[in-house]
Amino acid sequence: MRVLSGVKPSDRPHIGNYFGAIRQFLEFQHRHEGFYFIADLHALDQVRDAARLREYSFGVALDFLALGLDPKKAVLFRQSDVPEVTQLQWVLGTVTPMGLLERAHAYKDAVAKDKSVDFGLFAYPVLMAADILLYDSDRVPVGQDQTQHLEIARDIAIRFNRTYGKDFDPKTGEGGVLKLPSAVVLEETGIVPGTDGRKMSKSYGNTIPLFGTDAEWRKSVMGIVTDSVPVEAPKDSRKSTVFALLKLFSTPEEIAEIERQYRAGGVGYGSFKERLLRKIQETFGAARERRRQLERDPVEVERVLAEGASRARAVAGQVLGRVLRACGLRV
Ligand code: AMP
Repeated sequence: MRVLSGVKPSDRPHIGNYFGAIRQFLEFQHRHEGFYFIADLHALDQVRDAARLREYSFGVALDFLALGLDPKKAVLFRQSDVPEVTQLQWVLGTVTPMGLLERAHAYKDAVAKDKSVDFGLFAYPVLMAADILLYDSDRVPVGQDQTQHLEIARDIAIRFNRTYGKDFDPKTGEGGVLKLPSAVVLEETGIVPGTDGRKMSKSYGNTIPLFGTDAEWRKSVMGIVTDSVPVEAPKDSRKSTVFALLKLFSTPEEIAEIERQYRAGGVGYGSFKERLLRKIQETFGAARERRRQLERDPVEVERVLAEGASRARAVAGQVLGRVLRACGLRV
C-alpha cells in the first residue's frame, strides 16, 4: 500500500502543524510505503523570493529527517525534481471541466475576497491531482478541510479513465489507466490554539515554532494570554490555552494532576507555562539537535533528496508512460 503526502514549503512549521499533520504523516512510514514530497511548485504561488523558497524547501527536508523520516524506508523528494508531474498536469487539464475548478474552495475564497487570481491558483487542483495520480497512490492522508482536493483528483482520474481506459469500469474503478486513490482523513486532534487562544496560524502571528531557539520558545510560551485569576485562586482549565497546549504533551495521569492543580488553586499560570516549556524542550529538543547537525551537512541532505527523486521518477516514468500511450502521445 502506497501512501502519499506533501508539505508546502511556505513557512517554518509550528506545533499546530506537527500535532495536526506532520506527526501523523510520519507514522504511516512504519506501516506503508511512504512517498513524502516537498510541494515547491505549489509554494510558488505564495513565496516569490528565490532565496526564501530554497531555504524553506530545504527546511522541510530537514524537518522531516530530524523528526524521524527514515530515507531507507520512505521516499523523500522535491516535487520539482520530478518533471513528469507537470507533463501529467497538462494532460489531466485537458479532461478537467472549468466548472470543477470554479467550485474549488481556495479559488472561490480568493474570488469572494476580491483577490487577484492567477492561473496557478486556479489550476492548482489539477497539479495536485497529478501529484497524487503520478505515483499510483493508494491512500492520501488529508485534514478534514482538504477532502475536497482529493475528491477533485478522483474526479479527474475517473474522467481520464472514462475517456481513454478501454476496460474502465466506473462502478468498481477497475481497468483504468490511472489508479483511483482514497482519502485517509487524519485523526481529529482538534485545533491547536495559538498564544492568543485563536487557532494557531502563521497569519495570526500566534505560533510556537516547532524548531525555535530556546529564547523563541520561551518568548512564545510566556506570551500566552491568560485571565487575571490570582495565584491562590482556583482556575478553569477548560478556558485555559496553557492547559490546552499542555494536554498535547502530557499522559492521561499528568493531565488529571494538572486539572487538579487548576481546580485547587495555589499554582500560578507562570508555573504552568514553565511546565509547558519543559515539555516542549523534552519533546522537540533532540529533534532540534538532529536538525542542527543535518543543517551542517547539506551535501548529505541533497543526496537523500536526489535518491528520493530517482526512486520517485522510476514510478512516475511508468505511470506517465501508461498515460501517454493511452492518449496517443507515445506509441
Ligand atoms: P497549513 O500550512 O496551515 O495549511 O497547515 C498544514 C496542516 O497542518 C493542516 O492541514 C492541518 O492539518 C495542520 N494544522 C495547521 N494549523 C493547525 C492548528 N492550529 N491545529 C491543528 N492542526 C493544524
